[in-house]
Amino acid sequence: MSVGVAILGSTGSIGTSTLRVLARQRERFRVVALTAFGSLERLREQAAATGAAFVGLVNGRNDASLDCGEDAVTGVGADCLVDAATHPDVQTVVNAVVGAAGLRATLAALEAGKRVALANKETLVMAGDLVARAAERGGGEIVPVDSEHSAVLQCITGQAPQGVRRLILTASGGPFRNRSAEEVEHVTVDEALAHPTWDMGPKITIDSATLANKALEVIEAHFLFGLPYDAIEVVVHPQSIIHAFAEFVDGSVLAQVGFPSMELPILYALTHPERVTDAGVPRFDPVAAGPLTFEPLRHDVFPSFRLGIEAGRAGGTMPAVFNAANEVAVQAFLERRVGFGQMARVVEGVLASHDRMEALEVDVVLEADRWARERAEAACC
Ligand code: NAD
Ligand code: MG
Repeated sequence: MSVGVAILGSTGSIGTSTLRVLARQRERFRVVALTAFGSLERLREQAAATGAAFVGLVNGRNDASLDCGEDAVTGVGADCLVDAATHPDVQTVVNAVVGAAGLRATLAALEAGKRVALANKETLVMAGDLVARAAERGGGEIVPVDSEHSAVLQCITGQAPQGVRRLILTASGGPFRNRSAEEVEHVTVDEALAHPTWDMGPKITIDSATLANKALEVIEAHFLFGLPYDAIEVVVHPQSIIHAFAEFVDGSVLAQVGFPSMELPILYALTHPERVTDAGVPRFDPVAAGPLTFEPLRHDVFPSFRLGIEAGRAGGTMPAVFNAANEVAVQAFLERRVGFGQMARVVEGVLASHDRMEALEVDVVLEADRWARERAEAACC
């Protein structure tokens, strides 16, 4: 019997890569549910190609007009994410939504005992403890899609957890790796969207240019692997060939290696701990990969990284506030309302004015998210 899959955010970069992976694995997986924010045409095409039983459009007006095939049940509004994630024929949910909007579906899927292949790192950053509790209560599990976290998982699978001493996540350094702080202050949206090694959606591409993405990933690793922040480091590796290192207590270090493609981490999140044949993933060639180099991260040029790590260490509602303020600042930058350098200052100001609370209830997290968005919007005018 094949595994039923829901893809939340199926029209995005991770969503379409997931569909490519699944098209090569038809014996093992079938697409049961698809959701998107507003790209109805693309969603219709995907529904027709996969025969999905449930199709949801978050920004749709009424489900009758979706017209996604005769047999498909359709839904509109934010609830369609939860409906897709908890669909009875779904065993694995690929959460490829961007931003805080993915949180409720992650929690609902875990409560319903599903595997969540999580690309949507923002929701783990916002509510890492709540996500873990939901998984415990419902029997669901999280498997990371993010390439660095997939790399860590591949290195530590089969090892005793107490044997892991340190993780080192790699960062490409983004398009401004070699620029000065003054130069970075006024780079354009087009320059920031031109990532040197990865082809991704606009939000994570900007986060990669500010290195806010790497801070989100350190927090993500903290919650996924249960290691303290002191045991999670970052190194700049411009070629994006090594995705992460795991160091063990005996001093041995394992790394996971491959050309930058999200299809392998997506496939592994679906099949972990098993490995299956996939002719579509590019074969590795060390000579073609060329020299591999490593550099320290330049904190003076990329303050967003430090802000995110500090928020992670402070815990409670601070990471949710960091995430929300960052989402607003990135959107304002993409809309050319603030400059590149201003994004970190907006986030810093919002964090400084937040009274930290414990994040023990989802409503507290969502209220912190709402509050931070309002503050950040005001600071972006
Ligand atoms: P994207 O912008 O290309 O796609 C986002 C998807 O989410 C689209 O299908 C969109 O319709 C949907 N969406 C947007 N806003 C929504 C909302 N409010 N409610 C419901 N659905 C909404 O983004 P992406 O690059 O595919 O990234 C998705 C997630 O995966 C992000 O959390 C990102 O950090 C993470 N991620 C992406 C990559 C990558 O290579 N693209 C790598 C690692 C992690
Ligand atoms: Mg990553």
